Formats: sequence, C-alpha cells, structure tokens
Amino acid sequence: MTKNRFRLSLLSVTCGVMLLASCAGPDSEPLYKVNRLLMGTLVQITIVGTNPHAKAAAQAVIDEIQRVENLSSFHKPSALTRINEHAGRGPVRADPEILTLLEESIRLSRQMRGAFDPSLGPVSRLWNFSSGEPRLPPTSEIAQAMTKVKLNRIEIDAATGTVRLPEPGMALDLGGIAKGYALDRARQVMKRFGVNGALVNAGGDILTVGEKAPGHPWRVGVQDPRRGNAIVAVASVKDKIIVTSGDYERFFVKNGKRYHHILDPRTGYPTTGLRSVTIVATDGITADALATAVLVLGADEGLKLVESLQGIEALLVDSAGRVKLSSGAASIFELRL
Ligand code: FAD
Ligand code: MG
Repeated sequence: MTKNRFRLSLLSVTCGVMLLASCAGPDSEPLYKVNRLLMGTLVQITIVGTNPHAKAAAQAVIDEIQRVENLSSFHKPSALTRINEHAGRGPVRADPEILTLLEESIRLSRQMRGAFDPSLGPVSRLWNFSSGEPRLPPTSEIAQAMTKVKLNRIEIDAATGTVRLPEPGMALDLGGIAKGYALDRARQVMKRFGVNGALVNAGGDILTVGEKAPGHPWRVGVQDPRRGNAIVAVASVKDKIIVTSGDYERFFVKNGKRYHHILDPRTGYPTTGLRSVTIVATDGITADALATAVLVLGADEGLKLVESLQGIEALLVDSAGRVKLSSGAASIFELRL
C-alpha cells in the first residue's frame, strides 16, 4: 500500500507528536506555548518559569528553525538543493553555515563508520519518502543510484567558500541531521533570550532547556513503535536533546513487507533489525546522526558505537519489541513494559 501525499504528511505530523510526547510533571501552566508546521512536521515550543521575553523567544526559535529549513531542505529550494542541482558541474558558492554543516556531517559519517551517510541523496530521492508518494524502486535503479553515493568525493573548499559534487547524479541529503541541528540552534536562541526552562519538540526530536519546574526534570515518553498510543519508557532529562529514529514514522507496506525511510548505505534498502533507536545527548547533530546510524548498524554494533562516545546514552527497541539500553541509560529511562 502506497500512501498518498496527504496521508504521508498527516502520518508524519501525528507520529511526530506521539513519538516522544512530554509527560505530565507538576501541574503548572506553561508561561508560553506555540505550535507551528516546520520542516514537514509539527514543532511545539513550551516555555516555563518566568521570563518577560517568552513570546519573542518562541518566535525567534520558529524563525531560526525556518532558516535552517531554508538552508537544508532536500526537496524544497534551499542552499542544499542549489548544490545538488550543480552536481557534475563546477563548484557552487555556498553559505559558510551550510559548508560547516556539511563538514560536520562528513566527520560524523566517518565517526559512525558510514552508517550515517549524507551522500545518500541519490538513493533517498528514489524512495521519495520525504516529498510525497514513496515507492519501491526497481533493483536496477537502486544499484545505479548506489554508484553515486560517494562521501569521499564531496569537495569542500573553505578558502573559496565553495562546494562541488564532481559527478552528475551525486546528491547530498541532510534529512538525518537537520532537525538535530535546528534544535542546537534553538538552544542558542533560548539562551540569548535568557530562557531557562523550555521544551522544543520537533516531530519527536526534543530539546529540553533546564527543568520543567525547580526540582522536576522534563519527562519525555518514548513511543512503542508498534502501538501508537503506548510508551515503552519515560526519560527524565534536563538540558538534553532526545532524538528518535524509527521504522514507524514514514513507511509503506507492500506485499506484506514494511519499507521505511532510514536506509542502509551498504545496500540502498531500508534497515531491518531494530524498530526504533532513542539517543540522549547534549549535542543535537550528533544525537540525530547517531539515531540513524544505530538503526543501520543494529543492536550489537550500534551499542558498541554508543559506548565509545562520551556522555551519550541509548534506548533501542528490537524486532521482537524488546528494549535494550546502553550502560548508563538506566539512570535516564524508567521502563514501562
Ligand atoms: P532521521 O532518522 O533523523 O532521518 C531520516 C532521514 O535521513 C531520511 O528521511 C533520509 O532523508 C535521510 N536518511 C535515511 N537514511 C540515512 C542514512 N543512513 N544516513 C544519512 N541520512 C539518511 N517532510 C515533508 O513531508 N514535507 C516537507 O516539506 C519537509 N521538509 C523538510 C525540511 C527539512 C529541512 C527537514 C530536515 C525535513 C523535512 N521533512 C519534510 C521531513 C523529512 O523528509 C524527513 O522525514 C525527516 O528529515 C526525517 O527525520 P526523522 O527525524 O524522522 O528521521
Ligand atoms: Mg537522525
């Protein structure tokens, strides 16, 4: 069954909200709350405590996320699509911020053993999950697109401020980290406005600033990947970013098989083995790339990667619905199975 464009967007919005909904804490009214559709998903901003600039801070966060979308969208005109359109042609002058983001994404890809790969654009384009009707591409098309997935051939020249994709058909896709980056930027904005208690939920990827109330950390539910209204765990966090990647956000079922939007860069096909991966970290782009990478690597390799990184914890749900935790995760997550 292939979902039409409307149903896919609706699915994305609803699941985003359900994915990691903030759970009840002390029953105080938030200072300011606003919802917006950004980056193809619902972004919810909640500010607590006392701050005379709460409304302006929330608006500045919305503007900042919109700005990140204008830089990094894969299918709407953006600084990134301009680079992709020039594949096989000369270097493109690009905003220093997108150059830095690309450099970071390449560094993260190497750190994550290629399981997160921003050069996967030719293959994600074929599956078409992010902009309308997803489809099961013929094997030959996937094989052809895979020949254009070439992280090592991305040419970034910081001195001239340019980037070049030397082969026609190469394409960059930052969908795996752009929301994490937007949350990193949102944190900066909150800081600038002196906000010391806030939660930004960008389609299930969440930034927490400070606590919900003095002595009460933010409590965030991790959705059960197969039962939309159930949670597998609750995380108690303060000043953290929590990102989840899963096989249940954007998917279609064909001949009884589930195809979803996280692709294995080794095969060009959706990952199998884990249903969802939730990462708790301080840095948004690392958390976002890592959630994608662990889904690709599977439980054993994925947890090894998490353990090798400082200050990062993970909760995994495997193909049988079992929960697996990284070594320090028990102090963050309260299991609800
Ligand atoms: P993540 O796991 O964080 O990322 C999955 C995405 O990363 C995939 O969709 C793919 O793009 C890419 N990816 C898949 N596998 C890998 C891999 N192994 N390595 C690296 N990257 C991989 N959706 C809409 O419907 N309409 C919109 O207008 C729209 N605009 C968007 C604009 C921006 C700037 C962004 C970031 C997203 C937008 N989206 C939009 C949503 C987008 O299409 C993806 O669904 C979303 O980025 C997936 O994020 P996630 O957190 O669910 O999953
Ligand atoms: Mg991700």
